[in-house]
Amino acid sequence: MRAAIFTGTGEDLEIQDVEPAAPGPRDVVVQLGASGVCHSDLSIKNGFVPMMPGMVLGHEGAGTVLEVGSEVTAVKKGDKVIASFIPACGVCIPCLADQSHLCDSEMEVMMATRGTLSNGSPFTTMTGLGTFAETMTVAQSSVVKVETDIPFDQLALIGCGVTTGVGAALNTARVHPGATVAIIGCGGVGLSVLQGARIAGASRIIAIDQGEEKRGVATAQGATDYVDALQGDPVAQVQALTSGRGVDYVFEVTVGTPEALAQAYGMTRKGGTMVMVSMPRMEGQFAISTFDLFYSEKTIKGCKYGSAQVRRDFQRFVDLTETGRLDLSNMVSRHIKLDEVNDAFGAMERREVVRSVITSF
Ligand SMILES: [Zn+2]
Ligand SMILES: [Zn+2]
Repeated sequence: MRAAIFTGTGEDLEIQDVEPAAPGPRDVVVQLGASGVCHSDLSIKNGFVPMMPGMVLGHEGAGTVLEVGSEVTAVKKGDKVIASFIPACGVCIPCLADQSHLCDSEMEVMMATRGTLSNGSPFTTMTGLGTFAETMTVAQSSVVKVETDIPFDQLALIGCGVTTGVGAALNTARVHPGATVAIIGCGGVGLSVLQGARIAGASRIIAIDQGEEKRGVATAQGATDYVDALQGDPVAQVQALTSGRGVDYVFEVTVGTPEALAQAYGMTRKGGTMVMVSMPRMEGQFAISTFDLFYSEKTIKGCKYGSAQVRRDFQRFVDLTETGRLDLSNMVSRHIKLDEVNDAFGAMERREVVRSVITSF
């Protein structure tokens, strides 16, 4: 099986022919139809999120079930599935509380070895998936069956970016009709937040990014205003657009730096809510004025995987797409081959793409 392997910080991913292990009784083997290249993959490659080498990267994928273990009941051979980068075991306390994005089985699933590399050493897979590969062997709790004819290149995006972003708006923040919203960062996840805010009926959606590259796509997805953060303080620009009040909901969707979080907090109106959607550095810290927190009574929320209950939300986002209310086709900038995954990281760093999607393995 061909797979793209993380071999060390700063190194290009290596395409290797690896030997997958036989699936266990509760495992599912999936043939990938498509895999998105997400910023979190790049964060591992460049060391922003430290991980051990010897890992198949990729965590945003969809495909077809090839084989199931003897105890698997949730899916069967031939089913179309979207991979969930956080497993949903269905029986832990968070899962039972409709918070499968906080499932207790996450670490156990992530640590599983899934076969051997060309040098004979065992490999792990990113978040227990490893979608940069022809096939992946995963826990049954990591896949969700969906009923749809939407092509795999779009379905794959529901596995990470779309669920994280749309979920941030609909689940985490619960944006209300008529709300005002600002989104810092217009990559795949940021544009998904934007679409979630549009679906929720926000009256004003201010998209913010550095430079003009994202203005067109943000406007096409429903942004009412676009702020170029290189043209002066973005907080002041958002204040100017909202009569000095700030907005009801701010979503920080860059990489969670203290500067970006301070900007998000500054744009939030009194009594409003800011949501950190990005995956920040593990050692990151964020300082705010405690007096201001008291005085302006703002809410600060974390957001992991769009607070999604994947067995409810994946099909929900499929349905929103099929009825034309969620646009996934515009999120796919390029179709690429597995061998071009390193080029896709370059394109992402140069802000040329919303998503490169691997459709040929
Ligand atoms: Zn991702
Ligand atoms: Zn669970």
